[in-house]
Amino acid sequence: MLRDGDPPRFRLMSVLSHEPLIRLACFAGVFAVLALWELRAPRRAQEIRRASRWPGNLGVVIVDTLVLRLLFPTAAVGAALLGEARGWGLLNNLALPVWLKIGLAVVVLDLAIYLQHVLFHAVPLLWRLHRMHHADLEFDVTTGVRFHPVEIVLSMIIKLAIVTALGAPALGVLAFEVLLNATSMFSHGNIALPPRLDRVLRLFVVTPDMHRVHHSIERRETDSNFGFNLPWWDRLFGTYRAAPAAGHDGMTIGISQFRDEKELRLDRMLLQPLRKD
Ligand SMILES: [Zn+2]
Ligand SMILES: [Zn+2]
Repeated sequence: MLRDGDPPRFRLMSVLSHEPLIRLACFAGVFAVLALWELRAPRRAQEIRRASRWPGNLGVVIVDTLVLRLLFPTAAVGAALLGEARGWGLLNNLALPVWLKIGLAVVVLDLAIYLQHVLFHAVPLLWRLHRMHHADLEFDVTTGVRFHPVEIVLSMIIKLAIVTALGAPALGVLAFEVLLNATSMFSHGNIALPPRLDRVLRLFVVTPDMHRVHHSIERRETDSNFGFNLPWWDRLFGTYRAAPAAGHDGMTIGISQFRDEKELRLDRMLLQPLRKD
């Protein structure tokens, strides 16, 4: 129970002890809004039923969450709190306003995710893990949370290193994780946005039309639009592609491997990194 007289640090720790609940509530809220939006105003007609895809895509989120909580009980927020207490990392040694440190942490972590995503496409062994995200045969809100648990664990190790070296504030890390979770679901949404709104939004956030290009079966299109959250990195590093060559309705989603519907089952998804074909 928080009291008015509690020191600020204790209050902060108490807020962060609710971190799993904050994240779950944000996930459920954003997911529900997008799922309803997809039903009301879908961008593309889906050929594969949700009943074939959603159990696998949502099942892997549960596996990912359990694995992460088991291996990293205090998560990245815990690493940030430890860094703050010990004075580790760049930002913990700079006299900057807290809001600026939070903003810097969000932007730097987002750049790191972009670079990591490029790396997971470029290194064959890492692509084996990441291709499961691309093997979804449709593109909707559940694709945004479809990642192999080993990729999720590697991501967490990279994030822990960056959080510690940067001295990211705990609230910055929590803000980033909640934001990325929400924008990843949004940028994978099978939702129709008016083209003018899409053009304006694209200046600030990755939109579904922008990220859908990344899920094209054409490899040169797969290797573009790596951002999940901020759209600037793709433009800055020359990996931006405005639209798929075949158009959003004509393009094929997925990769050339794993095109059978049974590959959408959770057990198949988990074993895909070990498969040669
Ligand atoms: Zn990718
Ligand atoms: Zn994606």
